[in-house]
This record gives sequence, C-alpha cells and structure tokens, in this order.
Amino acid sequence: MSTLASITSAIVSPYLTVTSLVPVGASVEDFQPRPQDVATLHDARLLVENGAGLETWLRDTIDGAKNPGLRIVDCTDGLSVEQQNPHLWMDPLYAKAYVARIAAGAALSDPRHARDYAEAARRYDRQLDELDRWIRTRIAAIPPQQRTMIVFHNAWYYYAKRYGIQLIGVVERNPGQEPSAYELANLVDLARRHHVRAVFAEPQFSPKLMRQLARSANIRIVEDLYDDSVGDRPEVGDYLSMMRYDTETIVKALTASTGGHA
Ligand SMILES: [Zn+2]
Repeated sequence: MSTLASITSAIVSPYLTVTSLVPVGASVEDFQPRPQDVATLHDARLLVENGAGLETWLRDTIDGAKNPGLRIVDCTDGLSVEQQNPHLWMDPLYAKAYVARIAAGAALSDPRHARDYAEAARRYDRQLDELDRWIRTRIAAIPPQQRTMIVFHNAWYYYAKRYGIQLIGVVERNPGQEPSAYELANLVDLARRHHVRAVFAEPQFSPKLMRQLARSANIRIVEDLYDDSVGDRPEVGDYLSMMRYDTETIVKALTASTGGHA
C-alpha cells in the first residue's frame, strides 16, 4: 500500500477500513487506476490524497466514481510545497501535519469516533517526534562531507533538507521519463566530483539505470530504499518502520568504506 495509506491506518483503524488505491510496491506517480478503484471510491466515505500534484490520475477517478458524499482530505493543503515536489511526508515533521488533516477529516466523516481519532493523532505525533529525533541522531553519525546522495526519483528532497543531506542528483527527474545519455554522463561526473558514496534505487522502479550509473561512477548501489510505497516485509511494512529502515540503510551506505569496484 501507499505510505499515505499506512499513515491513515494508524489514525483511523479500526473504526474506518482503509483501502489503498495504489498497491504495495507500485509507483503512485504513474499509477493507472482500474475499474475496481472507481468502484472503491464510489463506496467510500473519505478519500485521503497527498495532493501537491502527486496523484495526477486521481481527478478522473473521482469524477468517474460519482460519489457526491465523498469527503476529500488533501494532506498538503496549506503546506509550503517547494520546487513543486509533493513528497512532504518523507519529513516526519510534515507527516504531523498530514496526521492532523487526516484526523480532522475522519472526525467529520464519523463524528461518533472523533475523540478516538484525536487520541490516535496525539499518540502518532509523539511517535513522529521520536522518529525525528532518532533520524537526526543516526544521520549525525555520518561524517558531514559524506552526507551526499544520488537517488532514483525526487522523493528525498524534504528528508534531505531536514537532516542535512546534500542531494547531488536525481536520475528520473519526471515520472516515467528516463534520463538521456548526456544527463546520465552528467550524473556520473557529479558523483565523482562530490565523492558520492552510493546511489539509491527503489524496489518499485527498475534498477537498470542506477546500476549503470553506479558502475560508471564506480560507487556502491543500494537497491531498496522505500518512500512512496511501504514494502511487504514487516521491517518496512508501515511508515514508521520504513523511515527507520531507510535511515539505517542510508547511514550504512554513507559510512561504509568507499569503492564499489575500485
Ligand atoms: Zn514519488
């Protein structure tokens, strides 16, 4: 399921049943909704979307669902979206804003459990604060000049900004758009110049380009960073676990001695 569905579940379960339109391991940016997704929306009370341009396919699905009673929570509504990047949830402090919006939307849809949603939100907020402090401590263990990453897609902008990691490059700048040979060569050059230690791929995308990049720049490749979707293993099965897993993965890759094949 999507990371957003995981955060939503933490707030509204067991009172509301959460269905993720985007399945585990699928890419939310180029998701193709199926007829059953329109049916799901037709029967739903509440739709939680990230907004900020992430789910470009969603408007048509909502129109198709013909559900005038559907309440929509836009998690990034009112937040300061930077560089048109919708991945705000990758910063746990922004995730707190998501939680507040989800809890408010759930309370309006199901007033009988309003207090339960508020309580779940408070509990989750505390966990998010704890997560934030923990990530900060872990990233601090990486020598400052080694805090550089090249990632597959732009999901890491807010995380990198919050924790002082320099994002040197993004391989797929727009969803579904492969970089040209020139852009790839440019990334190899950037990786060398900034002594980037690793490139980070994600399970929902083919690692082919990242492998090519890692080979050319002679650096390590990490193939399992999770962001838009949680994973199907317990250690990455929900948002909080996923963020810890990712952070440990990043710390390990950026502190390891250099050299893939050097
Ligand atoms: Zn994404």
